Amino acid sequence: MKVLLIGSGGREHALAWKLAQSPLMTEFYAAPGNPGIAEHARLVSLKVEDHEAVAAFCAQKAIDFVVVGPEAPLVAGLADRLRADGLKVFGPSAAAAQLEGSKGFTKDICARYNIPTGAYRRFNNAPKAKAYIREQGAPIVVKADGLAAGKGVTVAMTVEEALAAVDDCFEGAFGAAGAEVVIEAYLDGEEASFFCLCDGSNALPLATAQDHKRVGEGDTGVNTGGMGAYSPAPVMTAEMIERTMKEIIEPTICGMAESGYPFSGVFFAGLMITAKGPELIEYNVRFGDPECQVLMMRLKSDLLPLLLAAAEGTLDKVTAEWSDDPALTVVMASKGYPGSYEKNTPILSLPEAGDGSKVFHAGTSLKDGELVATGGRVLNVTATGRTVGEAQSRAYALLDKVQWENGFCRRDIGWRAIEREKA
Ligand code: AMP
Repeated sequence: MKVLLIGSGGREHALAWKLAQSPLMTEFYAAPGNPGIAEHARLVSLKVEDHEAVAAFCAQKAIDFVVVGPEAPLVAGLADRLRADGLKVFGPSAAAAQLEGSKGFTKDICARYNIPTGAYRRFNNAPKAKAYIREQGAPIVVKADGLAAGKGVTVAMTVEEALAAVDDCFEGAFGAAGAEVVIEAYLDGEEASFFCLCDGSNALPLATAQDHKRVGEGDTGVNTGGMGAYSPAPVMTAEMIERTMKEIIEPTICGMAESGYPFSGVFFAGLMITAKGPELIEYNVRFGDPECQVLMMRLKSDLLPLLLAAAEGTLDKVTAEWSDDPALTVVMASKGYPGSYEKNTPILSLPEAGDGSKVFHAGTSLKDGELVATGGRVLNVTATGRTVGEAQSRAYALLDKVQWENGFCRRDIGWRAIEREKA
């Protein structure tokens, strides 16, 4: 099978590493890829936004299957364009990708199909949004409707903060993504991520994870794309997984199909486990980054037939096997991230990956043959262990061998799970 992988982050390196192990793989390309992905696939310097160029490349190389990593090309309709040429694609249509592309769309699906989530209202102007906030009081959550690179959400502890967030949205802080806002009830509980493949009508639950969004230790400071993650999430017991499938995933699959947008790809459900049970915070329509890295470390099955089954509508015929051992990944980022940071700083040496450990590349490049950091989040140092504590020790032992002066990381990834293990 000839496969093209779209993307260039740590998530795509993890997917590439796993896909390359498939005995079904005959030719493997990645666009645009990164130096880590280049260990597994031939890099193609395509502009992913140029759907015609991607389609032309697929035709030229007789590609059989395209795996789309990030959300932006999905929301922009890359999967639709390639399917029009008869290609098999892992990832939803633009219409189905609205589950991530529009928070209001998802909330409406939840309301129509009785999916547990915070009560909400949608607004396209500031005065009405503000009146609603004053009526509801704080804490309350203000969300820009569209894709805002993870920055469009304000969890406001005071009414003033929420009103300011509304002004930010309508004054253009998030561009077109803020033309509409969703005001949502605050949910109290522990967060978890749940991943599930879907082929339009069948679902195959994958695994759970928890991430650390804040830049600082103890989960403090500003939000980032994610500073680390581990899998499984202890809060997601067998009962919670079963309830999530029944109360959230299955009605979503039905609702999307009935609404005329059958979903194929991966559901990445952001959940709040409240006193009432699992409630949906948001859907993403692709694997999480860095959650994907820990999922791939734990997946024992061949990934390629699983993704293919999601694209072909045969998920009822496959199963996924997982290692019981937890996996944990620590993100190394450029100093200054998520604010401004220096680019092209040298990464002098990376440790050899061993059994159950791997350094995934995110924002790296080769410059005159030397590895440099070009992104905010740069490396994902990942390890497994018999416990989260052991996975953490192994990950930091590996990380301490990375020679990159401009890098930093949090030293407490997994703390919540490790405290649970100690208790
Ligand atoms: P989102 O981009 O929707 O995942 O939101 C980013 C983060 O904001 C989530 O990971 C939660 O920590 C928080 N958040 C979003 N919605 C709510 C809510 N209704 N109640 C409490 N926290 C929330």
